Amino acid sequence: MKLAKSIEEIRADFPILSMKVHGLPLIYLDNGATTQKPEQVIQLMDQLYRSANANVHRGVHFLSDIVSDRYESARETVRAFINARRKEEIIFTAGATASINAVAFSFGEKYVREGDEIIVSEMEHHANIVPWQMLCGRKKAVLKVIPFTDEGLLDLEAYRSLITERTRIVAVTHASNVLGTINPVKEIVAEAHRNGIPVLVDGAQSIQHGVVDVTDIDCDFFVFSGHKVYGPNGIGVLYGREKLLNELPPYQGGGDMVATVSFRQTTYNDLPFKFEAGTTNFTGAIGLAAALDYLTALGREAVEEREQALLASATAGLSSVSGIRIYGTAPRKVSVVSFLPGDIHQYDAGMILDKMGIAVRTGTHCAQPVMERFDISGTIRASIAFYNTEEEIDALIDGVRKVTEMFG
Ligand code: PMP
Repeated sequence: MKLAKSIEEIRADFPILSMKVHGLPLIYLDNGATTQKPEQVIQLMDQLYRSANANVHRGVHFLSDIVSDRYESARETVRAFINARRKEEIIFTAGATASINAVAFSFGEKYVREGDEIIVSEMEHHANIVPWQMLCGRKKAVLKVIPFTDEGLLDLEAYRSLITERTRIVAVTHASNVLGTINPVKEIVAEAHRNGIPVLVDGAQSIQHGVVDVTDIDCDFFVFSGHKVYGPNGIGVLYGREKLLNELPPYQGGGDMVATVSFRQTTYNDLPFKFEAGTTNFTGAIGLAAALDYLTALGREAVEEREQALLASATAGLSSVSGIRIYGTAPRKVSVVSFLPGDIHQYDAGMILDKMGIAVRTGTHCAQPVMERFDISGTIRASIAFYNTEEEIDALIDGVRKVTEMFG
């Protein structure tokens, strides 16, 4: 599978990649935290504010019509990108966190009672733990946790044994932001569905790496953030199965989400507007669609293939540095490598790498239970995108080797 552009052409699309830091070329390997934006998105955002700005769904005038059409066509782009059945199943939110909170609140209000159970996994980002803990606190429900193995694989037998007749929802990540593990979400969903339980899949770390098909996964909710998939910040998506979304109450009230309002009674709008109260980030949604179009044009399978090749080089190279421990060695991973160089503190190593122009993330990565599982205070994480090069991976490996030599 070949990318539609050469690596030089791709890198030229992302202006920030030619920047220098500390007088050295930037080597950006923190794509799991946020991705860089192509000109196609940056220019579009600029153009929207210059020549296509008006409030969405709020007017009969020329500009409002243009924006409303583009907003609804962005919804269709998202639908096609994740292969949802209907455009009404795509809700625009502020990001993955906002989407999970929306489900935890709305689904929780309707379906969770005292003594009910919610299942998450031990490898979740805090965004897929805390909203469920808050719900459990409100409803006196119980949070149950699927453990993972030393390799970073979910223990599916333990998962099966956690399901009871009190389980109301399962919420798991598609790919771990620390370990890189791609979870067998299809299997997890099938098992939950055999027991009549819906599943939320956190796609914040999967959507940018390969083809995601919510119809094939058969999940009930799927969430992701625009900024991690080469789109703008402050926009995200909540996909929900139409039947479930129709059953759930809105979690925020305001303009656009209503059909009629009076002091006697208010009726709600149809999907997807029922869940989009107030002025949404319509510019962000249109920018997100441009980012998804960029990936589609590049070739999503080719993106995945390139990232897997870079991941293999990074894993092999880092493993060859003496004293390195890699966290997350599952056979199917997204292009994320977490590691610790001997006893050197991850923060010291991260600071030295920064001086070499290499941007990596250090710390707990908002996944403290993963750190607790390994009894460590944090890791260094290199997260790779298709625009990274083999030379950059070599520079990372060299840099890490130098750090270990410096600390003896
Ligand atoms: N889930 C996972 C797996 C993540 O990696 C992240 C972001 N690091 C989130 C959820 C939350 O995303 P956001 O902060 O964009 O809402």
